[in-house]
Amino acid sequence: MSNPKNIQVIIPAGGVGTRMGLGYPKQLHRFGNTTVLGKTVSLFQGYSITVAAPEAHLQAFKQALPQDIRLVAGGATRFDSVKNAFEALGNLESNDLVVIHDAARPFFDPSQLDAACALAEKKGAVIFACKATDTVKHVNADKTIGKTLDRDSIFLAQTPQIFKAGLLAEAYQNIPKEPLPTDEAGLLESLGVDVTVMPSSPGNKKLTLAEDVSLLQTDLPRIGHGYDVHCFDPSRPLYLGGIHIPNADGLLGHSDADVLVHALIDALLGAAGLGDIGQWFPDNDPQYEGVRSTVLLQAVMNELERLGYEVGNADVTVMAQAPKLASHIQTMRTTLAPFLKVDSSRMNIKATTTEGLGFVGRKEGIAAQAVVLLSRRHEG
Ligand code: MG
Repeated sequence: MSNPKNIQVIIPAGGVGTRMGLGYPKQLHRFGNTTVLGKTVSLFQGYSITVAAPEAHLQAFKQALPQDIRLVAGGATRFDSVKNAFEALGNLESNDLVVIHDAARPFFDPSQLDAACALAEKKGAVIFACKATDTVKHVNADKTIGKTLDRDSIFLAQTPQIFKAGLLAEAYQNIPKEPLPTDEAGLLESLGVDVTVMPSSPGNKKLTLAEDVSLLQTDLPRIGHGYDVHCFDPSRPLYLGGIHIPNADGLLGHSDADVLVHALIDALLGAAGLGDIGQWFPDNDPQYEGVRSTVLLQAVMNELERLGYEVGNADVTVMAQAPKLASHIQTMRTTLAPFLKVDSSRMNIKATTTEGLGFVGRKEGIAAQAVVLLSRRHEG
């Protein structure tokens, strides 16, 4: 700022976000490598910040925030939370600025803050607001339209809301009787203070409903590739794609040698950056001798699930000169899809010969390649 002075930031985060249906405060929802609140707090880096948190969740908030953030217990309403936080700031100079910003508005563009604070120094009270883009109707109690409002003069109030501390202190001495204003600007308006509007950036959305969670997805999907070969062993049964194929030579291996499932497991591990199947299930470990490969697949899926991954789709190519696989493909798909928790349309399997070429063509063994796409599931 051109004229640096004491600027205090208050972030009311006292709500538990029941409208989002998450079962925990929406402010603690994961957002990239932090939380919604962590992202919002980071917008005001360098300022003195006070967060009003739900009393029952103070410890969780303490852990989620940098140590230099002041934490106070929020009140029953947003209004009370801001008031509690303001009172916790003690005696401020009347020209100090108080910036109030919703915890659930993590997309505010902080480059707008300096200009807004400079304006608040001049005007005393400034809020960000968004010009209405839809036509706005005043609706009667019986759901009929009373009148159409002039859209050009309609703004939807947002935060930050910035006030001189003296004005805010005076307003809290003169709180109007019910109904309470739903924002601090309303409180000052009730005292006859002129509040100036700054147009907000279009992305300054407040996270309110469950579908808003989709706005938080920042992880890119992850791709994985797997490749495996096993040679034939006519003394063993053939397991391929999670099923037993009768009347066919089996494959040599420590486990059931299901080469298709092995390629799929390697693709899954690869996508998650977790190494390969040999590291997870060593072929000299007696506990995996003769084990069905679908057991290993389930173990890998359990780990991926624990890490928050879900499968987008998988595509596998089996290279085999023999046996003929076409009549088994659909059964393999419907067998493996539930392990990946996808519909069988997302668990594709293709089989090809190699036109008699190479070790596959000479019927020495079977090879398989797989690719999968993983995405990180939304969670808190
Ligand atoms: Mg293998």
